[in-house]
Amino acid sequence: MRYAMALDTKKCVGCSDCVVACQTENNVPIGYCRDWVVEVVDGTYPQIELELRSERCNHCDNAPCVRCCPTGASYIDEGGIIKVKPIKCIGCGACVQSCPYDARYPHPEGHVDKCTFCDHRVKAGDKPACVSVCPTKCMYFGDLEDPNSDVSKVLKKRKHKVLAPEAGTKPQVFFLI
Ligand code: SF4
Ligand code: SF4
Ligand code: SF4
Repeated sequence: MRYAMALDTKKCVGCSDCVVACQTENNVPIGYCRDWVVEVVDGTYPQIELELRSERCNHCDNAPCVRCCPTGASYIDEGGIIKVKPIKCIGCGACVQSCPYDARYPHPEGHVDKCTFCDHRVKAGDKPACVSVCPTKCMYFGDLEDPNSDVSKVLKKRKHKVLAPEAGTKPQVFFLI
């Protein structure tokens, strides 16, 4: 099993419902977030293109945040999901520094926090909170090893990219272009 997510940059309208859903579902403290929306403007007027992206941890296959953690608090869980065990985290911030995507934040309780792919929901047979609330249905989640999963099917059909491939982290969050 290898969980992954794909996001359609052509369908995202930048409403941030995914951000609010995540904050509510995962008790993210006020002022912090596990996902966020990026607006990228390309070209010059009147030939302007706008790309809207809902970003989060990429659950990288080659994750520097796991390698650099001195206590083993950052680890690879079932299906390749990168997680943090709060009880083992000493809040040193090494993982925050090592992530090329700025996908982790220091939780006020002293540990580091980040996207979990909502594995508690996935284990219960539900989609991640952000995926389930998206009003334009622009997010796809599932097992890459299952050819019939939503994510496998859409990645087969559509061109896609990952963020900062040059970092060598092998992201498992894909953007449909
Ligand atoms: Fe680690 Fe950052 Fe990759 Fe997430 S996006 S697995 S926090 S390096
Ligand atoms: Fe590991 Fe916590 Fe330090 Fe991150 S802040 S490297 S999870 S001990
Ligand atoms: Fe937040 Fe869950 Fe979406 Fe990750 S998968 S950004 S934890 S709602």
